[in-house]
Amino acid sequence: MKKNNKSRRQFLQTTGATALGLAAGLSVSSKANASVKNTSWNISGETIPFTQTPLAYKYDALEPNIDAITMEIHYTKHAAAYAKNLADACSAENVNTQTAKLEDVLGSISKYSVKMRNNAGGHYNHELFWKSMTTAGSSTGPSGKLLKCIEKDFNSTDAFKTQFNEAAKSRFGSGWAWLVYGADKKMIIGSTANQDNPLMDISDVKGFPVLGLDVWEHAYYLHYQNRRADYVTAWWNVVNWEFINKRFEEVA
Ligand code: MN
Repeated sequence: MKKNNKSRRQFLQTTGATALGLAAGLSVSSKANASVKNTSWNISGETIPFTQTPLAYKYDALEPNIDAITMEIHYTKHAAAYAKNLADACSAENVNTQTAKLEDVLGSISKYSVKMRNNAGGHYNHELFWKSMTTAGSSTGPSGKLLKCIEKDFNSTDAFKTQFNEAAKSRFGSGWAWLVYGADKKMIIGSTANQDNPLMDISDVKGFPVLGLDVWEHAYYLHYQNRRADYVTAWWNVVNWEFINKRFEEVA
């Protein structure tokens, strides 16, 4: 075990620039075209930074759908730990967080450690999750390009939600349910285990994660206990469609 770690370090040290290039995914070529920030997606808007960003709302803003104590523990303990462990993994595996893109690291996650996989995924997923929610009264619905794609691929918003709920409820153990925009420009629904996500090269369901729902017990157990289905249903009341619609416009 120790020997493997050492040889990996030596490999990274001796290969220098090549290893950095690998570690940063397409960051070398992205210098030529600043809008290409990801192995598969031309993301014109903001990308997810390597550190935690402040919540845009208070811990109790999502009540009664998600309770304040769950939000506080989730953000300050669980998500904070992913961010810290991601920083440690980046330092150990020569990822320069000033220049690399988290999306690129995820796109070539098979080249990194399990620690990187769990925490790069954990951090990205949670940062996206916080932004994907808003005060219950301000939640609207899919619109514009996103609504068109949802209606094309699922027939209706209701049918899309039903299928998404099924993915969220049936994910065994800990994981995430996703609305994914594939390279073939089709929307699909899927789920991933643990902190994996559709940007990862090792993921069964691949594409751009438009919307994701955390179905780890830590996301709902204090209020909902074993009733994951009730949590999933209530979560729709706080989806920040304004953010999701805009997020989709940037890649579609
Ligand atoms: Mn979580």
